[in-house]
Amino acid sequence: MNGKKDYYELLGVSRSANEEEIKKAYRKLALKHHPDRNPGDRQAEEKFKEISEAYQVLADAEKRAQYDQYGHAAFGDGGPFRGGFDFTGGFEDIFGDIFGEFFGAGTGRRRGRARGDDLRYNLTIGFEEAAFGADKKIKIPRQAPCEACHGSGCKPGAAPRTCSTCHGRGQVSFQQGFFTVSRTCTQCHGQGTTIADPCGLCGGAGRLRKLHTLSVKIPAGVDAGSRLKLRGEGESGPAGGPAGDLYVVIEVEPHPLFVRDGLDIICEVPISFVQAALSAEIDVPTLEGKVKMKIPTATQSGKVFRLKGKGVRDVQGYHQGDQLVRISVETPTHLTARQKELLKEFAALGGEEVHPLSKGFFDKVKQLFG
Ligand SMILES: [Zn+2]
Ligand SMILES: [Zn+2]
Repeated sequence: MNGKKDYYELLGVSRSANEEEIKKAYRKLALKHHPDRNPGDRQAEEKFKEISEAYQVLADAEKRAQYDQYGHAAFGDGGPFRGGFDFTGGFEDIFGDIFGEFFGAGTGRRRGRARGDDLRYNLTIGFEEAAFGADKKIKIPRQAPCEACHGSGCKPGAAPRTCSTCHGRGQVSFQQGFFTVSRTCTQCHGQGTTIADPCGLCGGAGRLRKLHTLSVKIPAGVDAGSRLKLRGEGESGPAGGPAGDLYVVIEVEPHPLFVRDGLDIICEVPISFVQAALSAEIDVPTLEGKVKMKIPTATQSGKVFRLKGKGVRDVQGYHQGDQLVRISVETPTHLTARQKELLKEFAALGGEEVHPLSKGFFDKVKQLFG
């Protein structure tokens, strides 16, 4: 073939375009010039052939490198890729992801009976349930096989017939220019069978919407956003096709004392400034009940203590988080006259050395502003 156009020019991309840019450019052009959209238009057909050839080369790293080096000669007689281009066999494999939505279910990815849709269910559980696991019952409305016809869609005693249009294949093929194009059969909608006497209850659909109660085992260690997949618990497929999956997405209620951070649990504990100054033993709540914790002398507000292994165990059970106890020193309120008097006395006695943080801070301020 003489006068072949530059592949990059054909797709309207630069020579440095990445895989994604090439794919995007091709997709846009291919949808525009596809023979199905331009029946009988020889020019569109020719254009489509050109851009498809360009894409087959530029989308393949090895072929692209050869093209960059040798140009069209790379694919001529004696070139590494002689033998030309394949526009029939393997068409779906190469272009399947590009034309997925264009050809719909007819691309051959779905064979036999169509699968039911996947479902999503948002399940809110308690904080402890997320940490320790739980058995929950959920009610979901979903398509279930019709009990009158057991999913066949036919009146009792009748059976679906092989579709006369596609002879049971569910797809019809036809020649379109260079291409053999397969399409979902419009007569049977890809089922391969038609129903002459539809079931009175489901009208031939083979399924009915019902409220279904389901037990869900929540594993210990799940967190907000965790997704549990329940295979085959989605919508049942039309005409007895396989069911889709159910995805249970976990939401976790807030806890009055704890905040979750991955496998760790954070708990803020207020102590008095006397406890903070003189040391104390305090009760700290954990997921498994109260534990005693020693507060050392001169503990500052914001100090975090780590209680090893008091966090959440991961879903696989390999790791266990910690509990982080953040101390907040509480300023006393509603003081009596006597208490105020004692504090004033304390303040009069206290010098810089009892408040090293304040001293350090004000020393810095002095350095800055004089
Ligand atoms: Zn058919
Ligand atoms: Zn039925």
